[in-house]
Amino acid sequence: MHECFHRGTATFMILGNLCTRGCTFCSVPKANPAKTEMPVDAREPRHVAEMAAAMGLRYVVITSVNRDDLWDGGSTHFAETVREVRRALPKARIEVLTPDFQGDTESVARVLDAGPDVFNHNMETVPRLYRKVRPQANYQQSLDVLQFARRHRPEVLTKSGFMVGLGESPDEARQLLRDLRAHDVDVATIGQYLQPTRRNRAVSEYVTPAQFDDYRDFGLALGFRMVFSGPLVRSSYMADEVNLQAREHAR
Ligand code: SF4
Repeated sequence: MHECFHRGTATFMILGNLCTRGCTFCSVPKANPAKTEMPVDAREPRHVAEMAAAMGLRYVVITSVNRDDLWDGGSTHFAETVREVRRALPKARIEVLTPDFQGDTESVARVLDAGPDVFNHNMETVPRLYRKVRPQANYQQSLDVLQFARRHRPEVLTKSGFMVGLGESPDEARQLLRDLRAHDVDVATIGQYLQPTRRNRAVSEYVTPAQFDDYRDFGLALGFRMVFSGPLVRSSYMADEVNLQAREHAR
């Protein structure tokens, strides 16, 4: 379990610290479940909730590694974690940052039905770079997951993020924003890719602050409720701001 604490907000990573995928930008250790045991700790949902309550959190982000080896992609465990946190902290807002569940809408629905306030699934990059950056993922599938979330639970805010500096062009980044809006995503986050270890993909470019501002303005003109765009923006950046907007949205 991983957590980071900032202004009443923390992110918890569940379902272990080994991932079944090999995204080249990510430093989470990879494992093959045929060769490595990857047990799921049934007590984890309760433990996350207990820690979140002990920290007195106002905004809880729950994320996970990919678990393509599990029959439900880990969605039952994910949903149970949402329910336990809700029980322990009824006033806190809960954001789920989920994998794509290989496009399985039953798994996505299972997590949404547990009652999060925000559904976040990151696109990470533009489609041309998927094969090199997110080799086991599918661009359209991720868009479909986001749109399904909006339609299945219209009251839940949808959110997605991507990195720049991976080799995309500004036109490609703008098209990604258009695609997100066309799939009813409410909030976009855009941040600079930084190479986490030497084994990861190299940075192609450090994007200028003016270019980040251009993406933000472009996104807002498309109709996003919020666009966070800047070199240091990360997926759960300003989660408490999203929290405020989520309250507005729920009214
Ligand atoms: S699926 Fe997520 S945790 Fe796994 S390698 Fe990709 S970004 Fe990292």
